[in-house]
Amino acid sequence: MTFLVKYKIAVIPGDGIGPEIIEATLYVLSNTNIDFEFIKVDAGLNAWKKYGNPLPKETVDIIKEANACLKGPTQTPPGPGTFRSPTVALRQILDLYANVRPFKSRKGVASLHNNVDMVIIRENTEGLYTGLEYVIGNTTMAIRIISRRASERIARFAFNFAKKEGRRKVTIVHKANVLKETCGLFRNVCIEIAKEYPDILCEEMLVDTAAMKMVMTPQIFDVIVTTNLFGDILSDEAAGIIGGLGLAPSANIGDKYAIFEAVHGSAPDIAGKGIANPTAIILSASMMLKYLGEIEIGKKIEEAIDAVIAEGKNITMDLGGNAKTMDFVKALIEKLNL
Ligand code: NAD
Repeated sequence: MTFLVKYKIAVIPGDGIGPEIIEATLYVLSNTNIDFEFIKVDAGLNAWKKYGNPLPKETVDIIKEANACLKGPTQTPPGPGTFRSPTVALRQILDLYANVRPFKSRKGVASLHNNVDMVIIRENTEGLYTGLEYVIGNTTMAIRIISRRASERIARFAFNFAKKEGRRKVTIVHKANVLKETCGLFRNVCIEIAKEYPDILCEEMLVDTAAMKMVMTPQIFDVIVTTNLFGDILSDEAAGIIGGLGLAPSANIGDKYAIFEAVHGSAPDIAGKGIANPTAIILSASMMLKYLGEIEIGKKIEEAIDAVIAEGKNITMDLGGNAKTMDFVKALIEKLNL
C-alpha cells in the first residue's frame, strides 16, 4: 500500500461508549492509504477523575497543534456542583463557531420518513450555552448572548456551505416573535446576509413550527441555520427522524481548528458491551477526511457504510440487528473499495 499524506490527528476517546467507537473508527482509518499519526488525549469524566480537570490544558494544546481532532462523546454529570461540559468549553476556547450536522435517510434503516437530506448549521459559541448562569436566593438565571458578529459569520457559513454543496435553500430558524432582541438580531442579520446569495432561496421559520414540520414533512428542509440551543434540540429530533442517534455525525468548524464527533452522547446504558453503533462517529471521520481534502476516501467510507447497512447482515442492535461494533466495522472494511 502506498501512503499519501501524513496527518496529525488529536483523538479524544471520551467516556462511556466513546473508547469503543473511537477504536472502531481508528481501525477504519488505518485501513485507508492515508498516513495518520493519532495522538490520544484526555477529556471528560475520565479526565476529571484522573486530574481533577475535565479538559486538561495539554489536551487543548495538542488539538491546536494537530490537523484536526476526532472526539468521542464525553459525559457531563447533570446539575450544579460538578464540572462544565468539556465539549461546550472546547467549542468556545477554539472558536469552533459552526456546528454542521447532516441528517440523511439511509437505505435499509427503518425510520419515520424516507428521502430526508438536510443539514442543521448551529451557531456553536454563544446563545444560551455561554455558561453565564447565576443564582440569587431561590432564583436562577442564564444569560443568552446573541451578537451581530457571531450571527453574521454563522449566516455566511451556512450560505457558503449551501453554495459549495449545491443546495437550494437555507431556512433561518428563530423565535423572534417572543425573543425580540436576541432572536430578532439573529433573524435580521441572517436575512441581510442572505441578500449576498441571490441564487440560494432563503426562508424563515419559528422554531416551534420547525419542530412540528420536521416530524410531519422533514423533506421540505435543506439547510437550516439556527442558534445554539435550538440547533441542539432540533438535531436530536432530526436524528430520531432518520432512524436514531447512532446515524448522526457532526463537525465543529472554526477558522483555525476543527473537531469531528457524533451527535450522540456517551450512552452509559450500553457502554462496555461492544454493541454501540459506530456509524455516527465513522461518518464524522468521513467529514474530517473531506475537511482535510481527502474527499474521495471520505466518500468511499460513507458508501461502504451505506452498503453494510443496506445489506442488513452486520447492523447493530439500535438498527434492529444483533452485530457487535467490530462486526459492523469488519464488514465495512470488506466493502471499502479504495
Ligand atoms: P446519549 O446520546 O448518550 O444516549 C441516548 C440514547 O441513545 C441511549 O439510549 C443510548 O443508548 C442511545 N445511543 C446513543 N448513541 C448510540 C450509539 N452509537 N449506538 C447505539 N445507541 C446509542 O444521551 P444521554 O444518555 O442523554 O447522555 C449521556 C451523557 O452523554 C451525558 O453525560 C451527556 O452530557 C453526554 N453527552 C455528550 C455529548 C458530547 O460529548 N458531544 C453529546 C450529548 C450528550
